[in-house]
Amino acid sequence: MAHRHRLEELQFDNTYARLPEAFYARVEPTPLPNPVLVSFNPDAAALLDLDPDEAKRPEFAGVFGGQLLIPGSEPVAMVYSGHQFGIYAGQLGDGRAILLGEVRNGLGEKWDLHLKGAGQTPFSRDGDGRAVLRSTIREYLCGEAMHGLGIPTTRSLCIVAGDEPVLRERPEVGAMLLRMAPTHVRFGSFQTFFARRQPEHVKQLADYVIARFYPHLAGAADTYPGFFDAVSVRTAQLIAKWQAVGWAHGVMNSDNMSIIGLTLDYGPFGFLDAYDPAFICNHSDHHGRYAFRNQPDIGYFNLRCLGQALSSLVTPQQEQEALAAYEAAHAAHYLELMRAKLGLQTSTSEDGALISDLLALMAMNQVDYTIFFRALGGFKSGAAETNDLVRDFFTDRDEFDRWAIRYADRLWVEAGRDDDRRARMNRVNPKYVLRNYLAQTAIERAQQKDYSEIDRLRQLLKDPFAEQPDMDAYAAPPPDWGRQILVSCSS
Ligand code: AMP
Ligand code: MG
Repeated sequence: MAHRHRLEELQFDNTYARLPEAFYARVEPTPLPNPVLVSFNPDAAALLDLDPDEAKRPEFAGVFGGQLLIPGSEPVAMVYSGHQFGIYAGQLGDGRAILLGEVRNGLGEKWDLHLKGAGQTPFSRDGDGRAVLRSTIREYLCGEAMHGLGIPTTRSLCIVAGDEPVLRERPEVGAMLLRMAPTHVRFGSFQTFFARRQPEHVKQLADYVIARFYPHLAGAADTYPGFFDAVSVRTAQLIAKWQAVGWAHGVMNSDNMSIIGLTLDYGPFGFLDAYDPAFICNHSDHHGRYAFRNQPDIGYFNLRCLGQALSSLVTPQQEQEALAAYEAAHAAHYLELMRAKLGLQTSTSEDGALISDLLALMAMNQVDYTIFFRALGGFKSGAAETNDLVRDFFTDRDEFDRWAIRYADRLWVEAGRDDDRRARMNRVNPKYVLRNYLAQTAIERAQQKDYSEIDRLRQLLKDPFAEQPDMDAYAAPPPDWGRQILVSCSS
């Protein structure tokens, strides 16, 4: 049983702050006035061996509202650069987030304590260094929702709000989010040192990441190409998971791409309601660069940016091989995940067409992605005419019936029992996802100082595959108002 530490007893091991000063700037948080704890996640606290009762201490909001530093923390803002919307944007860096330090738990795992909205840093450019309550609630909940779905992600410890307004399109409540990850190093972290023509720093950062997160590659003959290959494969698998669950990131700039394949930097993300491959969740993305269906190609583009940054360590030929491995890994993992969504355990050469024809039909008939796959678990393989529950999702029932015959034939090849398949499908097709309207309800209540909906959603989304009593309303498609929520980069 892990120790239950008090805040003062957290075990810091600040490995990133041991790197040379070129990798960060030392800076302390600028406190929020009159900090109030909005939400606390005991599951993330457990990863730090932190006693959940610590959240009841009055100092807790002070610590995560930037007023108090825990002994052992060494706050730094990390430097990084990146391609934003396809164009190299030069140096960016943590403009409003501060890495307070790294906590090592009793299992030896290391967690960055990253405080977002912590005030200006040398990398703030024209920004105020702040985050608003609205965007911190979205990031807090979606990090935990993705974790519940089994998708690699940053985790969320708590939100603290202050009582001084932060100006966006209108004045909003300012807040800080304490986010956790094994590391916050991004593709863009490498791009900085490539742009500065400092290959020795590129190598030092690669060595840092490899030693901690790809240790099997350290000291190998092909360490660096192996590293680029491993990052490519992790990224491929991550994006395949996004596609399979129907989620769009919204701002897949290379500075928002984790070097260990986590979902990172939640902004204008969105889960699909009706299946629409052209879905654009970011209202500021006028040309649809980050549309749902483009995400695999954008992952490839971002890996090319990383490959360029690693060009002192990886030959063009090795880079091409890793990019090819990205494409192969993405296709294979996506197919594997979609087969599982259909309840298939074996593979045949027709599965790709079975899946893409279903998706085309869903797009044509504007079928809700999450609700349909959950319902498909109830498909009866023996008698097509008893499948009304599933075919009623489609306005073009004849087209669906033609697909259903193929699906039933395919299930016959599998020769399993319907109820086993349903149980299997319910473990991969979530009942509950963080649709924008659900987050929006929690945000609007929080702005009236009622924070209970945040916790209700966090609890619900922890186990999105389970049927949860009295929570059916949370599995509903969006109401009309919920279809029209515009989410932009403003945060
Ligand atoms: P994002 O779009 O949130 O990934 O942010 C892109 C870059 O802009 C990062 O370097 C952020 O730190 C920076 N940034 C975003 N908002 C602010 C802000 N309010 N103040 C300072 N920097 C910001
Ligand atoms: Mg970012």
